[in-house]
Amino acid sequence: MKRLVILGAAESGVGTAVLGKQKGFEVFVSDKGEIKKKYKDVLIHNEIEWEELQHTEEMILNADIVMKSPGIPDKIELVQKLIELNVSVISEIEFASQFTKANIIGITGSNGKTTTTMLTHHILKSAGLNVGMAGNIGDSFAKQLAENDKDHFVLELSSFQLDGIVNFKPSIAIITNITPDHLDRYDNDFSNYVASKFRIAMNQNSEDYLIYDADDTTITEYLESNPVQSTLLPFSISKKLDKGMYLKDNNIKLKIDNSQITMPTTNLALEGKHNIKNAMAASAVAQLLNIRKETIRECLENFDGVEHRLEHVLRINKVQYINDSKATNVNATYYALESMDAPTVWIVGGEDKGNDYSELFPFVNEKVKAIICLGVDNKKLYENFQHMVDIIIETQYMSEAVKIAYKVSEAGDNVLLSPACASFDLFENYEDRGRQFKDAVRNL
Ligand code: ADP
Repeated sequence: MKRLVILGAAESGVGTAVLGKQKGFEVFVSDKGEIKKKYKDVLIHNEIEWEELQHTEEMILNADIVMKSPGIPDKIELVQKLIELNVSVISEIEFASQFTKANIIGITGSNGKTTTTMLTHHILKSAGLNVGMAGNIGDSFAKQLAENDKDHFVLELSSFQLDGIVNFKPSIAIITNITPDHLDRYDNDFSNYVASKFRIAMNQNSEDYLIYDADDTTITEYLESNPVQSTLLPFSISKKLDKGMYLKDNNIKLKIDNSQITMPTTNLALEGKHNIKNAMAASAVAQLLNIRKETIRECLENFDGVEHRLEHVLRINKVQYINDSKATNVNATYYALESMDAPTVWIVGGEDKGNDYSELFPFVNEKVKAIICLGVDNKKLYENFQHMVDIIIETQYMSEAVKIAYKVSEAGDNVLLSPACASFDLFENYEDRGRQFKDAVRNL
């Protein structure tokens, strides 16, 4: 019996434990922190051995295979020891994917993964396919496979999940874009992070597809010097392409093999240029799976959007309040500000990840009338923006930020929470920040 050791007992770890046990492995789960009750219950119910608040080396170094949760860096001593012992250390996606026959659609990128994953899933499901959705979303892939297999899976994949793959091979891969993020885990070297994203295509061959943003020079330059085997399907909102997805007169054109689809952008449910790109990527998948044009069109029109991503909360006194709490980096906020069609009161700030704000300057000059800095340390925001707007104020409380926004906004304005920063200085996570924003708006 092979010994499977799992480091980290959260969603992906516990899912892997359950699947591993079902597939006949001897399973041991170890977490250096405290394990949440709901996960302990699952481990106990499935009679899986586990420990918390420690990693007992004698129980771990004897593994045949180790599944490391994506939150644990490779650098830690224990992982290094395992690698020295030639134990294969893999991610949940790698472990789980060997137990499915499903057609895999893998989606990665710095921004837009969740939106594109949910939109793709929405189209495939509406077309009547037997499709599941997993990865960084909802129940783990492993847990879902332990319960029942599907014909197709749409997987949201972080670079950490991709770092731990060996044989994983999606038949359709998407790279939405690549901008600097999580560099602390990549020796502060952007090229390591880029290479990590491209691992999504490393096992693909010419029968598989790689859909990517052809306007993103990081992606196109990487592809020039590191060709992949996959059939390439680019999308662009700035140039016409011979093959792939592009814009023509407010229409999205899809040209794949011999089929063509035209869809008006005016009817898209999601706003913003970035969402045109997400829609292009998702509809390309649908087209590759031969889903009817009408279904694709309808789904792009009726997709509800995703919470905390340019989410329209309420309109009060003709002011629209928008929650984009998931914008935890500058690029995401770039698209949020770009999509603003009215004078905007902008709530920004949090834990700065080495941000370069300069690409936002044109939008701030053009559209932002007031800035509310919501972070523990707002010095950098003041330095960057104080000369661009008449009003710049700081606070450490969401309720106060929203009250100030209410006071300084006028009929026709937008109030936008798009922090460009992580949330951990003042909030539990971005969901908590977004919920507090919505509660404060509803209490106005
Ligand atoms: P991820 O799962 O990659 O973090 P999300 O879909 O959750 O991506 O979106 C994260 C943030 O990025 C949100 O603020 C969203 O509005 C913005 N965003 C969504 N799609 C894109 C895109 N294609 N390019 C840039 N920003 C995007």
